[in-house]
Amino acid sequence: MPIMSSDDFSIHRQGCQNVDDGMPISDLPDEVESVDDLDCQCWDDLDSLAEIA
Ligand SMILES: [Zn+2]
Repeated sequence: MPIMSSDDFSIHRQGCQNVDDGMPISDLPDEVESVDDLDCQCWDDLDSLAEIA
């Protein structure tokens, strides 16, 4: 399950070291259409959003 940083509302994978405090979210925001829309390096090893579950 992705988590949303409470600092800047960026989306991260659970366990991301760039997030001190985050809130689990069950669905990605509508504006996220591909992993390219997710800025953090924690997504780099994913090829598609379908792998996020
Ligand atoms: Zn991250």
